[in-house]
Amino acid sequence: MATPHTLDEAVAALEAHPAALLLGGGTDLMPALNSGRLRPGSVVALRAVRELAGWHGDDLGVWLGAGLTFTQLQQPSLAALLPALARAAGAAGPPAVRNAATLGGNLGTAARRGDILPVLVALDAVVLLHGSGGPRKVPAGRFVLEPGRTALRPGELIAAAWVPAARGPQEFCAVRRESGRSLVSVALAVDLDTRRVRCAVGAARPVPVRATAAEAFLAGRVDWPAGRVADAAAYEEFGRLVATVAGSPPYARHAVAVCARRLLARALPAGPA
Ligand SMILES: Cc1cc2nc3c(=O)[nH]c(=O)nc-3n(C[C@H](O)[C@H](O)[C@H](O)COP(=O)(O)OP(=O)(O)OC[C@H]3O[C@@H](n4cnc5c(N)ncnc54)[C@H](O)[C@@H]3O)c2cc1C
Repeated sequence: MATPHTLDEAVAALEAHPAALLLGGGTDLMPALNSGRLRPGSVVALRAVRELAGWHGDDLGVWLGAGLTFTQLQQPSLAALLPALARAAGAAGPPAVRNAATLGGNLGTAARRGDILPVLVALDAVVLLHGSGGPRKVPAGRFVLEPGRTALRPGELIAAAWVPAARGPQEFCAVRRESGRSLVSVALAVDLDTRRVRCAVGAARPVPVRATAAEAFLAGRVDWPAGRVADAAAYEEFGRLVATVAGSPPYARHAVAVCARRLLARALPAGPA
């Protein structure tokens, strides 16, 4: 087991052991190791890597270290900037899991029912990777290729996610199975300056999908300076259009439509200002 303290040391450890598994908080990995499902020759533990810790924001956006735990994503100063991400992190798993589970691990696992990626997709976030070839950026919407497979190249790790600044409400809603994992999730972000609503659906399909037809429909239905939806029927149509990306099961389409309608009503009220 390698325990690097810097990003360069982590990359060097990966170069020395190309088949090594990266270990974040271990909430996905440890059950697989303990059950013998995974038997890696070596492990690179990322917990002590300084550059993966913490977050910072400026006028351009928010930088989120891959080592941020779900509990840290909920801290009030960060939740004020990225409320949908805080809500998604706060609803995922029990507290002991949230104290260990990391942003980087959630992206690395690339699970269909993962709660973080749909939010990052709605926020037009970028995943920042680091490897021996230097840093590389991948849009969040293109990071997961299929469940369990990502755009990471051999020898690379996830260093951070970057979320561009946007002024306006951000919302997240998930309908969960008995297991606690999301059956469907919907993330919505309003940008009052660029006059755009961005919406992504998670869990219903193998990878999160942007509801582009629903986004385009809304552009003409919002009184933008006021941030209000012109007519109440628009909520219904928005929900219907978002549900078209949710695949074929009627329960998934229904759940997505209900979530999308509620999130929009919360983000942009109806009627004149
Ligand atoms: C009881 C329970 C409930 C859960 N509920 C939810 C839930 O509701 N929603 C949800 O989304 N998830 C849930 N999870 C899953 C899990 O907690 C998350 O996927 C978590 O974010 C994984 O992070 P980790 O740091 O523990 O990853 P780890 O287990 O350490 O690693 C997971 C994978 O990511 C890779 N990895 C880790 N860090 C990096 C990095 N920096 N760069 C590249 N690859 C990396 C690892 O190699 C591994 O393949 C639950 C888990 C448990 C045990």
